[in-house]
Amino acid sequence: MLRRLLLLGAPGVGKGTQAVRLVSRLGVPQISTGDMLRAAVAAGTDVGREARGYMDRGELVPDAVVIAVAEARLRQPDAERGFILDGFPRTAEQARALDAILVKLGRALERCVVLSVDEQALVERLRKRAELEGRSDDNEAAIRTRMQVYRKQTEPLIDYYRGRGILVELDGVGSVDEVAARIEGALAA
Ligand code: AMP
Repeated sequence: MLRRLLLLGAPGVGKGTQAVRLVSRLGVPQISTGDMLRAAVAAGTDVGREARGYMDRGELVPDAVVIAVAEARLRQPDAERGFILDGFPRTAEQARALDAILVKLGRALERCVVLSVDEQALVERLRKRAELEGRSDDNEAAIRTRMQVYRKQTEPLIDYYRGRGILVELDGVGSVDEVAARIEGALAA
């Protein structure tokens, strides 16, 4: 199966859940810039201090900050065998930066899996997650902003990866197992 992957999709679509499944299936790390930024906020690092306000409002953290975080992670030895990018890249500039990083590392992205779910269903999922996890950016205003940001800045990346010939679009509706099976089908090399 392919091992250098990017999961793309709107907030709440289930990228994180599916990434965790793929970690045990493929034995490669999940690289979630959202998780790394939340850890930086919790630890009170410079990156965390810079990122916090943007995250709480549901806006994107500046490209330069996120690109540096992602590059450092991709350079870790455990990412040599592969990786599951989850939530990065989110802008055209980040996508170009990722290309440059992977060229430097002598690796290429093999698949971009897009998960799609109807927007109303997503908002419902995010509200539920807000109750369960208490994420500070799962409030109504931040949820709306994150959806808008996704449509405007991140959705155009679908065409970018389609142009590369590595795009697979999948229905993200269904149980975790059902969606996982669809993804596995798309990763058969
Ligand atoms: P996530 O957990 O992927 O939904 O990310 C949570 C928040 O972290 C986002 O709403 C952004 O504020 C920030 N973030 C995560 N990844 C990125 C990225 N690639 N570019 C910019 N901001 C990001």
